[in-house]
Amino acid sequence: MTRLHVAIPESIDEALGLLGKWGREAAVIAGGTDLVVELKDRLKSPKALIDIGRVPEISGIRETEGGDVWIGALSTHAEVASSTVVKETAPVLADACAQVGSPQIRNRGTIGGNISTASPAGDTIPALYVLEASVEIIGPKGKRVVPIESFFQGPKKSALAFDEIVLGVKVPKLGKEYVSFFRKLGQRKSLAISIVSVAFAGRCQEPGLFTDVRIAFGAVAPTVVRARTVEKAICNMKLDPKSAQYISKLAFRDCVPITDVRGSQGYREVMACNLLYEGLLEMGRVRKA
Ligand SMILES: Cc1cc2nc3c(=O)[nH]c(=O)nc-3n(C[C@H](O)[C@H](O)[C@H](O)COP(=O)(O)OP(=O)(O)OC[C@H]3O[C@@H](n4cnc5c(N)ncnc54)[C@H](O)[C@@H]3O)c2cc1C
Repeated sequence: MTRLHVAIPESIDEALGLLGKWGREAAVIAGGTDLVVELKDRLKSPKALIDIGRVPEISGIRETEGGDVWIGALSTHAEVASSTVVKETAPVLADACAQVGSPQIRNRGTIGGNISTASPAGDTIPALYVLEASVEIIGPKGKRVVPIESFFQGPKKSALAFDEIVLGVKVPKLGKEYVSFFRKLGQRKSLAISIVSVAFAGRCQEPGLFTDVRIAFGAVAPTVVRARTVEKAICNMKLDPKSAQYISKLAFRDCVPITDVRGSQGYREVMACNLLYEGLLEMGRVRKA
């Protein structure tokens, strides 16, 4: 039987020291909802687990002096979903966190873990893309900040080095004139990894007229992708049910889905368009009410 060392650092410096000591033989663990599955399936077999759950520097949600919202990597999905500041200034992220897994998973799984896993189906990621967030990382050479789109390099591949830790995400606030939504399609309503997901944010100056439109799709490419073709199209026309249907059909142009156990390539292409259309229609209805 192999021995697994477990260390519980109480500061970020101690955590980095342990990562330095164990190197590639270590795995950082936060909520464990992704990592424990990988350990059980023997996809990973580290010699040491570094449990960062008690590191104070990566906890909490607060507004920064620069006017952003800082969300510590250890914030659980439940904490982000119920945070007043996130609900008011980045509602699309609160919506996304509220749709992760089940109450148990939301109480345990963290935003830092969701990002670090770097799955193209991670539900917080499309929301962070449309918020144009950045990831704060710390390692032996100090801190660095990586724009969210540059952080992801492929399925389960990110800019994070083995000896680095995600401190948190910095999220620019969406102004009051912005509307946003997050929708996902899974094999059932809860406890389901996304087959397709979409996040939308846009500045609405008058009903149906949008500027600064940002749309991101999850689970339709090796990483989450911005749908820039549709973004441009929406900015150039008045949105009503008919134009929304036409525009949504352009969604697949920025997607390169694969076929896997959850859905075929063709199904994902169609559902990406439908999910966006549904979200745009629903948004129109809510704004008229
Ligand atoms: C039943 C079930 C349902 C799920 N449903 C969903 C869903 O609907 N949507 C969704 O997006 N996800 C879902 N997940 C996946 C998972 O819950 C999330 O990805 C979660 O956010 C991972 O966070 P964690 O704290 O548990 O990460 P962990 O499992 O602790 O870690 C995951 C990975 O990230 C690394 N890591 C964690 N924190 C840091 C950090 N701060 N710095 C550096 N590396 C770090 C770890 O080393 C590990 O490689 C589900 C999982 C399960 C088991």
